[in-house]
Amino acid sequence: MDFELSPELAELRSTVRRLARDKVQPRARDIDTSGEYPADVFDAFRAAGLLGLCIPEEFGGSGAGILGLSIAIEEVAKYSNTAALMLLLTRLPTGPVMIAGSDEQKRRYLPGVAEGTARAAFGLSEPQAGSDVMGIRTRATPDPAVPGGWVLDGTKCWMSGVREADWYTVFAKTGDPASRAHDSVTAFIVERAWDGVEVGRTDHKMGVRGVDTGELVLRDVRVPPDNVIGEVGGFRLAMLGLNAMRPVVAARGIGLAEGALMYATEYVQQRAAFGKTVADFQGVQWEIAKCAVDIEAARLLTYRAAWLADRGCFTKEWVPLLSAAKYHATELAVRASGLAVQLLGAAGYMTDHPTEQWYRDAKQLTIVEGTSQVQLGLVARGVLDRDLWWD
Ligand SMILES: Cc1cc2nc3c(=O)[nH]c(=O)nc-3n(C[C@H](O)[C@H](O)[C@H](O)COP(=O)(O)OP(=O)(O)OC[C@H]3O[C@@H](n4cnc5c(N)ncnc54)[C@H](O)[C@@H]3O)c2cc1C
Repeated sequence: MDFELSPELAELRSTVRRLARDKVQPRARDIDTSGEYPADVFDAFRAAGLLGLCIPEEFGGSGAGILGLSIAIEEVAKYSNTAALMLLLTRLPTGPVMIAGSDEQKRRYLPGVAEGTARAAFGLSEPQAGSDVMGIRTRATPDPAVPGGWVLDGTKCWMSGVREADWYTVFAKTGDPASRAHDSVTAFIVERAWDGVEVGRTDHKMGVRGVDTGELVLRDVRVPPDNVIGEVGGFRLAMLGLNAMRPVVAARGIGLAEGALMYATEYVQQRAAFGKTVADFQGVQWEIAKCAVDIEAARLLTYRAAWLADRGCFTKEWVPLLSAAKYHATELAVRASGLAVQLLGAAGYMTDHPTEQWYRDAKQLTIVEGTSQVQLGLVARGVLDRDLWWD
């Protein structure tokens, strides 16, 4: 067993740590206040080669994998979860393509994301179907004019990065619309420029502002046969992409928690009260200690999950370990940011400090890409099925 990062990953961490301090930290508050897409941060990521971390070298990336991407996201999320989301979006929509897509799809769609000349987004959720993914109603019917082609109709919602994306990974029912069988759903690559593809309303969000979430409206969108990801009815394979994402979302949580705890610790060490500093009170020290222990536990879960995902261990038997990382790290982000607000007192509640923003940003992490309850259900299933067992 070896807990050391490889020299390459250690170098990546220090490079991104510097970049996050120089380019992300000074912009974090303004991104939240203005709600405008931070093109300068995207450009900084592109210049540093961070957009291709999880994309294999043969398709224009650096092949640092899920672990490399998670390490980068952890650093950036210390200051801005919006910036962390921008990095995450290099993997969420490309995952199904990397796992199940054809060579031609990989050659056509991955290099643009890696080089920062194209952006992508992921469309699974619909207003009536979030956790209950089999309830989606977006329909794909065979295109009468093109053998093997499809016509898509429906509306996706809450899609992160919908406005900036050049292409989308979209899930639609190819089988009986009423079916709840996995083979009734297929993943497609849909280009923004195609007829019938339109960005609908965007949402007013509590946090993680600057990268919009919103609707993608598909009206009679004709998709060529080459843009089916994997096989028709291959939902299960494409969904493996989501299992492999658990550590990447978890990294947004651990970075946020680290940033919040470090900030609050520095504050209480200089805040005078009752003739000493707030940091001198044992009650405060124990809260700091509990949070620090939680952070280290979450990092171990997350790094192991990333290591597993990079070894292709994201099928059913590994799900409980992947879900445990996402659950623990994102719930921790909510607790740690709440603690940071509390330790700063009134100051922590005001926009003079980043703590209130971290508190708002943290909450979405326990909802996206499988809520905490869904993750707990998956961990429980793993134990009940003996996938997670200690005997
Ligand atoms: C900021 C943000 C960005 C997002 N980005 C994207 C994106 O890019 N692409 C995309 O497709 N989607 C995206 N989503 C949607 C997200 O994936 C869903 O919100 C999530 O899957 C939960 O679905 P829901 O909101 O419909 O909640 P519901 O499924 O309606 O759940 C409501 C509550 O019921 C609980 N619940 C549901 N089922 C169970 C169960 N079986 N057991 C116990 N409790 C349960 C949930 O945990 C939750 O607390 C985003 C959401 C947010 C907030």
